[in-house]
Amino acid sequence: MTTAVWFRKNLRVHDNAALTQACDAESVLPLYCLDPAWATPSIVGPNRCRFLLESLEDLDATLRTRYGSKLHVVVGDPSETITKLIRDGTITKVVFEEEIAEPRELELEKRVVEAHPDEAQAVPSTHLLYDADAALAKGAPPTKMPGMVTLAGKLGAPAKPLMAPSTLPPRPDVTSPPLPSLESLGYSPITTKAAYGVQGGESTGLQRLQEQMKRENGKWARAFEKPKTTSASFEGEPPTTLLSPYVAFGCVSVRTFHQALKETYAKGPHAQPPTSLLGQLYFREMSYLLGRKHGAPFAEQPSVVCKDIDWDTDESAEKRFQAWERGKTGYPLIDAAMRQLREQGWLHHLARHAVSCFLTRGDFYCHWTRGRDVFDRDLLDADWAINNFNWLGLAGVAPWSPPFFRVYNPFNVGSSSLNVRDAEGKYVDRFVPELSKLPPRHKYAPWLAPKSDLSKAGVKLGETYPRPIVDHKAQSKANIERFKQAQRAAKEASTSKKRKGPPVPA
Ligand code: FAD
Repeated sequence: MTTAVWFRKNLRVHDNAALTQACDAESVLPLYCLDPAWATPSIVGPNRCRFLLESLEDLDATLRTRYGSKLHVVVGDPSETITKLIRDGTITKVVFEEEIAEPRELELEKRVVEAHPDEAQAVPSTHLLYDADAALAKGAPPTKMPGMVTLAGKLGAPAKPLMAPSTLPPRPDVTSPPLPSLESLGYSPITTKAAYGVQGGESTGLQRLQEQMKRENGKWARAFEKPKTTSASFEGEPPTTLLSPYVAFGCVSVRTFHQALKETYAKGPHAQPPTSLLGQLYFREMSYLLGRKHGAPFAEQPSVVCKDIDWDTDESAEKRFQAWERGKTGYPLIDAAMRQLREQGWLHHLARHAVSCFLTRGDFYCHWTRGRDVFDRDLLDADWAINNFNWLGLAGVAPWSPPFFRVYNPFNVGSSSLNVRDAEGKYVDRFVPELSKLPPRHKYAPWLAPKSDLSKAGVKLGETYPRPIVDHKAQSKANIERFKQAQRAAKEASTSKKRKGPPVPA
């Protein structure tokens, strides 16, 4: 009688409810199903896929060394894979942690449970600090930080993370194929490193967590305030923890992260939400509660959490979108960030602010879901609930958005709340090397440089580097006006619908 532990967004042995549940079984097969329809370059970028494969390798190594077991990875549709394993008698049961919000994963587990009502066992997820349904039973999910802090107060301390099992039941005698490689999944080999050289896996993730908590003897984590961290960063010590990819793939449990943070906070005075590290974990929690509450419409426009804005979707908007995606807008900050995202699978939080505001209400007036999809493909930490939560916020369409008329200036970086702090223009040098010979003061606005400086630096605007596609000052003003009108129109439409009342049956 073999129980398969189906690893999903919990690529770890610590705080793993499915693994803990299976410890009483006669025999355990650790299973990961890699869906080739998902792990494909147009859906999951190479950096993100590499991080996943590294995490699987690490999990496999831990299972071997600590438990004398190993990971069985099958490339194929997960639900068909599980059905096959049950039908051919390899396994008699499958245990897995249930999904909280992502529609694709919810649909998948529904298929598994419906096909195998007697064999499939879903256990409560460890992917959040709190049980999502218990939190939602307290009322509407919070959309702002004070509401989240109040909710956390009502729910009390999060459950302690589960210990990694000391032993595991033996693995059945099942031959496993070699772990897949990027190439075997149809990706071209990558020659560049992910941001700051991060590598996927529970071992590196837990080590990273410890290092972040010990940074400057714990003072760094205690003093951490997100808006004070630098956005134009790519080398040296990262300005934030860089734990999100580990948390997204479940290499590090968020409850373990929280526990480590609580222990660090206990050693001295610390910052408070929303800007503190605890505040960041609370933003994550809010994203998930909202995602669970609203389901698939959370990712759509219009919805109860998304205003119906008339984004441009014509051919010229498509050209602007492509320039944004390729890092060729003519605004070096935006272009450096978009090229960093593509090359390293990473962007600092405020750089994410810069490019998402720019693509939507700020400058290009393109639909936010287009940018959301690029992030979903390319970010190492791409996460359905968090990505939608933040794009909705930055596009100005959600109840938790900042005032829509406050847009970021993409070139006056010295005085911007984007916190670029890059007087030498190193960020531009690294990702937009065609501007690297310009004097630092012109690197973020080459079109304002005197002709002599441009020519000395070998920059020909419109040839070696684009001219700005839109004039930020004029365009952002026009966009704010359009946004205002679209809001007004949506409000009027909803009032007249309410006045008319529901349709009268014939
Ligand atoms: P830290 O600042 O060290 O924070 C610690 C942890 O808190 C992170 O690991 C993450 O799990 C969580 N967190 C931090 N900021 C947020 C936030 N704003 N919302 C929710 N959770 C947060 N984060 C993702 O994990 N996946 C995404 O797909 C994602 N998409 C984003 C899209 C946009 C447009 C924006 C503006 C932000 C997005 N974020 C996303 C949130 C945030 O930028 C990242 O979580 C953060 O930059 C990751 O770096 P870190 O691990 O060093 O975070």
